[in-house]
Amino acid sequence: MTITAILSALAEEQQGLLELLQQPRKSSHAGRDFWQGRLHGQPVVLALSRIGKVAAATTSTALIERFNVGRIVFTGVAGGLGDGVQVGDVVVATEFVQHDLDASPIFPRYEVPLYGRTRFPCDAALTARLLQASRAGLEGLALPAKTLLHHGLMASGDRFVSGMQESRNLRTALKQGGHEVLAVEMEGAAVAQVCFDYGLPFAAVRTISDRADDTAHVDFPVFVKDVASLYAQAIVRHLLEAL
Ligand code: SAH
Repeated sequence: MTITAILSALAEEQQGLLELLQQPRKSSHAGRDFWQGRLHGQPVVLALSRIGKVAAATTSTALIERFNVGRIVFTGVAGGLGDGVQVGDVVVATEFVQHDLDASPIFPRYEVPLYGRTRFPCDAALTARLLQASRAGLEGLALPAKTLLHHGLMASGDRFVSGMQESRNLRTALKQGGHEVLAVEMEGAAVAQVCFDYGLPFAAVRTISDRADDTAHVDFPVFVKDVASLYAQAIVRHLLEAL
């Protein structure tokens, strides 16, 4: 059976999954804890990516090289950037761009040097399943009717975006480069690039914890503590049951 890695950025997001893990075995490697076991009948490894692109790339590489995972699924929170992407909504990624990568004028802005590409795709089949699992998970949570499920492009970079002007500038610059992004976070593009290198299926879902604006630093911790882990648990359960 293919081993599924479930990555979270923050301990609060992982906690609910950890509590449900059966036959848990913890090992430490590269300064990180990896939890092997079974979840909803599937062999899994739970790990924290840690925060930022480099940390997430290290964790992903360790999962592949050391723990032999065959697919990686990321669940976490993100700031909403696109129109109508509100706190409490859920975004399933189809592709990732690194909003802070700029090797111009040698390479076009946002292009990852030597790859000849600006975006790294998520796996279409795994993403379709994650989208379905997110829909089912949200229905089960009986959330307010205005809760939306989006899917599309996400941006990652080593910056917590927390200002109205900052998020506006980011969005405009990305738009000028041809990238209409729904949400911004700090790890997904790195995991997508590692999975691209190894030819491994990757999918990512993020709950919107803030609008990356002037109140992001206030909205974010409240959301992470109270809501994010519930979403992650519900979505992961539906996904694993369908694999
Ligand atoms: N001090 C915080 C730091 C969290 S950084 C803590 O440790 O509790 C924010 C995390 O949430 C990152 O993992 C990132 O992927 C995601 N995120 C949520 N909102 C974001 C935003 N507005 N900008 C960038 N990342 C965001």
